[in-house]
Amino acid sequence: MSDIEKIKIDDHLTLMIEDLDIIVHMKIKGILETDNSHGFQRVAVNLVDQGKRFMLLGLEELSYTSSTGVGAFLTILRACKTHKGNAVIYDMQPRVKESFDLLGFSRFFESFHNYDLALAHLRQSEHEDIPLFPLAFACPKESHPLRINKPGYYTCPHCDVKFQVTEKGEVLALALK
Ligand SMILES: [Zn+2]
Repeated sequence: MSDIEKIKIDDHLTLMIEDLDIIVHMKIKGILETDNSHGFQRVAVNLVDQGKRFMLLGLEELSYTSSTGVGAFLTILRACKTHKGNAVIYDMQPRVKESFDLLGFSRFFESFHNYDLALAHLRQSEHEDIPLFPLAFACPKESHPLRINKPGYYTCPHCDVKFQVTEKGEVLALALK
């Protein structure tokens, strides 16, 4: 057994993190809402920036996610992909899947029925070149889930923030207020 680090984001959200070399296994417990999505995103993206570019996300105990939470997942997936890695989900609960479906982002995430299948897929994708575009991501102002087909300059249709998406998949806000 490797060590599992427990990070409590707030009263509604706890992350259980297990380090598997360049893969991080993260179990997400509770509910993802506007207030704690950024904390979740920050912890995960920090790990990716430190070189953990493959993320295995266990959602068995995640009972609900808001659209901001879906945006956080997209940001994490984008971070992994810009580092030539990948993120996959397993044990997704019906209410959470519903949120992804409603926003139209289910097809951007590879989702598996259990840990073993997800891990096997992730290990396989270490040897594949995963295309960055079409790219799903969250707008840099209010984490609205968005998708685009190519790099360029864009405006979020929900909050009007203007940003650039680079060829490397970086999302750069042009005028943060
Ligand atoms: Zn927005």
